[in-house]
Amino acid sequence: MHKKLIVANWKMNPNTLQEARKIFHAIKRQAERLIEVETVICPPFIFLQGLRQLSPTRRCVLGAQDVFWENSLIGDRVMSGAYTGEISPRMLRISGVRYVIVGHSERRAFCETDEIVSRKMHAALAEGIRPILCVGESERDKEGEYLHFIKKEIKNSLAGIPRKYLSQIVIAYEPIWAVGPKAERADTPDELFEMVILIRKIIGELFGRKIATMTPILYGGSVNETNAGEFLKKGGVAGLLVGRASLSHRVFGGILKTANRL
Ligand code: PEP
Repeated sequence: MHKKLIVANWKMNPNTLQEARKIFHAIKRQAERLIEVETVICPPFIFLQGLRQLSPTRRCVLGAQDVFWENSLIGDRVMSGAYTGEISPRMLRISGVRYVIVGHSERRAFCETDEIVSRKMHAALAEGIRPILCVGESERDKEGEYLHFIKKEIKNSLAGIPRKYLSQIVIAYEPIWAVGPKAERADTPDELFEMVILIRKIIGELFGRKIATMTPILYGGSVNETNAGEFLKKGGVAGLLVGRASLSHRVFGGILKTANRL
């Protein structure tokens, strides 16, 4: 059986490296004891180097919250790397990053299109970083339009990915209405289960049954200590993407322990 993948998305928190180190250290201590879980901490870029010094381990690795789609090609006659404010996949790899969140709804809200997401997927994979592709609808209409929306998001974001990289992709289903402080509610494990079946079907149509079965699908959206177990037990997911609840080492530690037990 595969390990559960539990990903902490710290978003734009905390304010200082000192605080980030404190949380990371406390989570790492717990994560290291859990043999059935791989924990991924995705801090803001600015804290990656400082957290790397705390020696992430195989059970507790570093991730990033976003990536640009180009690398700087030093030595080119034309200056490359002219992308003010961006962080390249190579910079992330060199900083010890193993996973990267791509296409989070809070980034898509700033005009990140499927085409941009697809470029980022390609770039991360080419650099040996596992992308966690976020997909999710803004509302569940009765007519079921949202199902077509999810299909389109997955198809477009994975367009043209070479077969050799397919085993590295992780998909996180994050319904937008369930994510962040304005969330209406979390999804239900039953509805999540149906969505996981749909996502596997879509991947199967694109890449065949083997890839569909082996691709880890995570759930994200208002996950906490109370509901985490149900999502893992009944939702059919391989792990969780946790936002707010990942900033408290006690709450996140509780989620990790639950995942380890199941
Ligand atoms: C997220 O940021 O991916 C997320 C799921 O947030 P939250 O857990 O706070 O809803």
